[in-house]
Amino acid sequence: MCGIVGIVGKVPVNQALYDGLIVLQHRGQDAAGIVTLDNNTLRLRKANGLVKDVFEPRHMQRLAGNIGIGHVRYPTAGSASTAEAQPFYVNSPFGIALAHNGNLTNSHLLKEDIFSVARRHVNTTSDSEVLLNVLAHELHNSGVMALQPEHIFRAVANVHRKVKGAYAVVALIIGHGLLAFRDPNGIRPLVMGKRETELGTEYMVASESVALDADGFTVLRDISPGEAVYITEQGELHSFQCAENPSYTPCIFEYVYFARPDSTIDNISVYASRVAMGTMLGHKIKREWAHLDIDVVIPIPETSNDAALQIATELGLPYRQGYVKNRYIGRTFIMPGQEARKKSVKRKLNAIKQEFKGKNVLLVDDSIVRGTTSQQIIDMAREAGAKKVYFASAAPEVRFPNVYGIDMPSANDLIAHGHDVDSICKIIGADGLIFQSLPDLIEAVRQGNPEIKRFETSVFDGHYVTNDIDQDYLNRLDQMRSDDAKARLNEAMATNLETYNEG
Ligand code: AMP
Repeated sequence: MCGIVGIVGKVPVNQALYDGLIVLQHRGQDAAGIVTLDNNTLRLRKANGLVKDVFEPRHMQRLAGNIGIGHVRYPTAGSASTAEAQPFYVNSPFGIALAHNGNLTNSHLLKEDIFSVARRHVNTTSDSEVLLNVLAHELHNSGVMALQPEHIFRAVANVHRKVKGAYAVVALIIGHGLLAFRDPNGIRPLVMGKRETELGTEYMVASESVALDADGFTVLRDISPGEAVYITEQGELHSFQCAENPSYTPCIFEYVYFARPDSTIDNISVYASRVAMGTMLGHKIKREWAHLDIDVVIPIPETSNDAALQIATELGLPYRQGYVKNRYIGRTFIMPGQEARKKSVKRKLNAIKQEFKGKNVLLVDDSIVRGTTSQQIIDMAREAGAKKVYFASAAPEVRFPNVYGIDMPSANDLIAHGHDVDSICKIIGADGLIFQSLPDLIEAVRQGNPEIKRFETSVFDGHYVTNDIDQDYLNRLDQMRSDDAKARLNEAMATNLETYNEG
């Protein structure tokens, strides 16, 4: 997963882009980048690291201009080098910079195609560079010197026809303005807002509404699946539905885990959806576990806090923050390889013994993916003196890899792959394990916007909305994404440090 922002302002946008990226940091801690447009020249700074470390005052000073885009990158296998930090740039036509959240599922074919048709070379393994070249080729094909909105929208329509997968995109086109678009299924989020100033209206697009809040922009609306929004350098806004058959199927995992609770995505409050997940799961626990003698409900901080509090309320039980999280350590997934990940759970969480000693505890997490976290957290609860440890997951069993930009490991690394609830319960060492059902999860999220009839739920049910995922694709992904593959990649990177261009 990644985070993107774009602003067309009336004054320099470097600080607003930075502040937007800071509140989207949870969407990717691997690399960050900003491009601004300054008198027909693109100013770029990108590097590996957190936003606060990547942009020093000297870089910020260089990022002049009233229009810009930014990106925070989340690590997936094959993307850890600085050369793959975003935004990417091509000089023709016009000079275009682009940043992208998502994953293209036909990237390898597009890469071959763009070379054979247009002799365009893609220099990294990043699908964002592929996407940029496909867009550049389509804009080039318009054949005009000054692009009109209809030329840009026709180019995006052709991108939709060629490119498969999930993509929310921001791009700067020199001499023109900012372009933002979303894939025809709207898998990855993109919201737009405006801010009135004495100098006129400023526009902003971002992965999550929280970035607009931070910069004092008010939300206008979500960009629709398949829609493109083009804001000229002068601040004129144009929008158009570019997809032939758009469908509204946003990724449900944004609500389960990824997004910040204070964001609204596709008109659904992430916070309200997590509370509703707690209500649903609380009802299920009452129905199926009425006989259990639970003393206290304890969240695994922090994503599950809202759901856990609601479960406690439904069950009429106390809610206690029994684990303390060290805020200065990255998310566990960021650690490459299983061994490093195991150690990092202990460094990240510690138990408050009084909340466990002699009690039957119900631990609540947002999801169980590999099971590493749950296993160790259950161990910690026992070490802290818990009598019985029950475990509830606000999401159903994660059984299938994600192909739309979330680093959900290869199927073999998923604990629920090939295991039923009883065996997962044994492996993680719980005295009882309960998962949210998929219909309940969908209902919990849908309550916020009943107009959305379907969500992208492939990690739970194996149904991929783009209809282009076959076993061959999953096998290839498996080779790239498994823990073994990541370990090999890290080893290679350690011995082959790449140089990069600061811009
Ligand atoms: P585990 O079961 O050990 O793989 O860890 C599951 C925990 O990791 C969940 O409770 C989430 O808080 C978090 N998580 C779930 N999905 C992801 C993801 N794709 N990237 C990073 N963290 C995740």
